[in-house]
Amino acid sequence: VLKKLREEVCRANRELSARGLAPLTWGNASGIDRSRGIVAIKPSGLEYSRLRPADIVLLRLDGSVAEGRLKPSCDAPAHVALYRAFPEIGGVAHAHSIHATAFAQAGRPIPCLGTTHADSFHGEVPVTRQLSAEEAAGDFVARTGAVIVERFAGLQPMEIPAVLVAGHGPFTWGTDAAAAVENMLVLETVARMALETLRLAPAIGELPAHLAERHHARKHGPGASYGQKP
Ligand SMILES: [Zn+2]
Repeated sequence: VLKKLREEVCRANRELSARGLAPLTWGNASGIDRSRGIVAIKPSGLEYSRLRPADIVLLRLDGSVAEGRLKPSCDAPAHVALYRAFPEIGGVAHAHSIHATAFAQAGRPIPCLGTTHADSFHGEVPVTRQLSAEEAAGDFVARTGAVIVERFAGLQPMEIPAVLVAGHGPFTWGTDAAAAVENMLVLETVARMALETLRLAPAIGELPAHLAERHHARKHGPGASYGQKP
């Protein structure tokens, strides 16, 4: 069942590794079939090069396994929390890519310093709060999903398809698993550019609003002019 979704999610996970975003096995991508309420995710600890569509684990939205002989990624509870809270998303990725993780560890949002950032993320990429001792002692991964949802109160997930979990690393999402992984690559690139910019000019302010808005609108929204007409 769900052959196409399994193939997409398998490909997205291999891409996450091939792009250097997930050192060792520190990353995972998932996708959802909304009509069936089934999430397809990477199995825990498996090497990306050995990953086949048949290995992909299918989960229900409550996190229980619907199909699969392997244990799902240990980050699965955070993925399903995001699918439940953000009905417009179709794919989720998590990784420990160096530069985005550096911002997460510093507990600092990624400021919008240029048009590369503005094209993909509407405003700064936010950072969550730290989990409390009680939260960390309980279902730590599900609580990680909950603090992301808490941080997005009043924000539009598809306007800023990324977040930094404080002291941990980034999560991204998109219309499907491939889009979530692409947003992870954009996030890592933008984080690296921001870090280099802040090294050269620590006091530089954010990109002026008129430029940030202009660039975001060029790729998103009703007047989008980027790319080719379908
Ligand atoms: Zn992690």
